[in-house]
Parts: sequence; C-alpha cells; structure tokens
Amino acid sequence: MQVKRADAMGMCFGVRDALATIERVTDPGAVTIHGELVHNGEVLQLLESRGFQQSHEDSREVPATPQVLITAHGVSNRERQKLRWAGKTLIDTTCPLVHKAHEAAQLLQADGRRVIVIGRPDHVEVRGIVEDLEGAVVVQVVQDVAVWPECRLGVVCQTTTPSERVDEIMLAIRSMNGHADVRLIDTVCNPTKARGAALEALLPQIDALVVVGGRDSNNTRQLVVRGQQRGIATVHIENEAGLDPEWFEGRQVVGLTAGTSTLPATIDAVYERLIGLATAVLPSSP
Ligand code: SF4
Repeated sequence: MQVKRADAMGMCFGVRDALATIERVTDPGAVTIHGELVHNGEVLQLLESRGFQQSHEDSREVPATPQVLITAHGVSNRERQKLRWAGKTLIDTTCPLVHKAHEAAQLLQADGRRVIVIGRPDHVEVRGIVEDLEGAVVVQVVQDVAVWPECRLGVVCQTTTPSERVDEIMLAIRSMNGHADVRLIDTVCNPTKARGAALEALLPQIDALVVVGGRDSNNTRQLVVRGQQRGIATVHIENEAGLDPEWFEGRQVVGLTAGTSTLPATIDAVYERLIGLATAVLPSSP
C-alpha cells in the first residue's frame, strides 16, 4: 500500500493566526471565546484546560468575563456593537478573508441588490454576514434556489464553500432569475480553493481517502463528500486513533488530506500511522 499526501491540506493562515493570538493571552480566566474558535475537539479541550470560558456557538448571551474573543469565523457588526455596549473588551481574531466576505455583502446591498449567501444557514460565519443585511437569503443547495422578484441580485459565498457548489448554484440562480441582473462576488477563500484543487489532483491517483478534521468542521465534511462523490472509499477521522487497520485491507494507494482547522501535528501523526500500516503486511481482499 502506498500513501500519498495532498499538496495542500490542513491548517489555514486564518486559524493559525487565531491560535497564535490566543496563545499570547496571559489571563485566560478573564476571556470568553465567543463560539467555537475552531471546529477541532482537540484544540477546544486544550483551551478549556488553560482556563478559557467558551460560549456556545448559538448563544446570544453577553458573556460574563471582561474580555470576549471573536473567533476566526467572525460575527456581525451588530453583535460586535452589542458586546462593546456591554463594556466588553474585544480580542478580534476574525479572518481577514471573512471580513472580505462581509464587505462584499455590504457592497452588494449598498448597490441596491438583494443579497444571496451561498452557504449553510446554521454556520456561524453565514449568520454573521446575514445579521447585518436586510432581507438576505441563504442558499445551501441548488434546491434552495427560487425565483426572486428583485431585478438586482448579489451573491456572496461562505468562505469554505466548494467552488463546484458555487458554480452549480450560480447556474440555477441565473436560469431561474433571467429577469434579474445577477452579480457574484466570489468570496470562497484561497486556502479552501487550494485544498479543493489539491484533492482533485489526488483523487485520480488513489483508491481510498483518509480525511482528518473535526466532526463539526464544514470544510472537512466537504472533502469527505467530494471523495465519496468520486466513488472513492473515504473515511473521516479526527486523529490517528480513528484509523482502523482492517479498513485498509486490499487498498493499493491511500490519499491523505485534512480540513483547515486540523493541527499539523495531528496530520503528521496520522501520516506516520498510515506509513506503518503500509509497511505492515495486510491481507488482500478476496
Ligand atoms: S478557511 Fe479561509 S476564511 Fe476561514 S479562517 Fe481559514 S483562511 Fe480564513
């Protein structure tokens, strides 16, 4: 069995910078992390052990601590304002590319367009974008596309949306809203595009795929779905403990990729274990 790593995978600069900021916090007990900093169980446990408070992603309560850390996924300006009015000091780790998505949505609205956000309605980033808009709609899949009465529509994307999903939804929006002037500002971030492209390059070379990342990580799940769509046996694990040697029996070439909130050390540990399995003698499938 061979093991091939995707050329681009794992932690993006947005998550890395957020973790670096939190690393520098000297009094974790005074800080509430507003929502999940990253969708990565290991990292969240580490933060808890350092003494950080963490508010649930759906929580609308103002945290009790004097400082509030905004995660890389960002929040709406309304939420930011609410926290400031409550006297909180903000530590803002919003990824600059999430900021760009917010700005793009505002620009489209200021241009007189009804804004459509391609993404998951319950994703914290999407909620943050939508909360600052009037009458925005969220489209997760092609089936959500409708005929909208406005003659000017503007579209932005959750930063971790696969580009193929954006393409198919845009096709549906344009064909069902032929009366409208539709403008897309593609806000899918470059790290997501690079990881998607690296996976596409890897898929023709492998017969099995291991995807490493948190269960709640949107971009990790997208990588899993892409492997499955291409008919490749795909397994989603959070760390090396999730590898089941029996699953690899009879596999010839196994690909490895990881979501943007996966720590480099976790990927390396999975890779080492896969190499160990590859050199072990595994019986072939009948
Ligand atoms: S996935 Fe993209 S937008 Fe999200 S934190 Fe990483 S770089 Fe920023």
